[in-house]
Amino acid sequence: MQVIIDQDRCCGSGQCVLTVPAVFDQGEEDGLVRLLQESPGPELAADVRLAAALCPGNVITVHGDPG
Ligand code: SF4
Repeated sequence: MQVIIDQDRCCGSGQCVLTVPAVFDQGEEDGLVRLLQESPGPELAADVRLAAALCPGNVITVHGDPG
């Protein structure tokens, strides 16, 4: 799977970091999302999709394999 973020839309809620800390982080100074892995493995796919669904800013886009 491929993960894309639109940081301009991020409000720094941190929901994605709580959901998948292996893939998302927040900047220490601005609190905005940082993408740690652009192509997370299949074991993280469900959590990444959940993070995308929960993101209040619609920042996270997921492409690629279902699952
Ligand atoms: S859940 Fe969305 S708005 Fe909140 S920090 Fe993550 S990317 Fe930003």
